[in-house]
Amino acid sequence: MDCEHAHLRVYEYLDGELTVWKRQAITRHLDECPPCAQGFTFEIDLRRVIVSKCHEDVPSELKIRIAVALGIAEQADPASE
Ligand SMILES: [Zn+2]
Repeated sequence: MDCEHAHLRVYEYLDGELTVWKRQAITRHLDECPPCAQGFTFEIDLRRVIVSKCHEDVPSELKIRIAVALGIAEQADPASE
């Protein structure tokens, strides 16, 4: 697995969408590739913050901005809500 694939798979890994052996492939890459491991740790920490903050009363606008910044959501159209 190369870095580009690792980056793409990290999101699926975090979402629990990968099979066991795919998770192992990522884990192995992260063991051998400190830059990727660093980015991966950042993603995990960031998601942990988001999850914990979502239990509090966070403005939905902020959640959307975070999601957009993470590239996991398009900018929401206010008219569609
Ligand atoms: Zn890498």
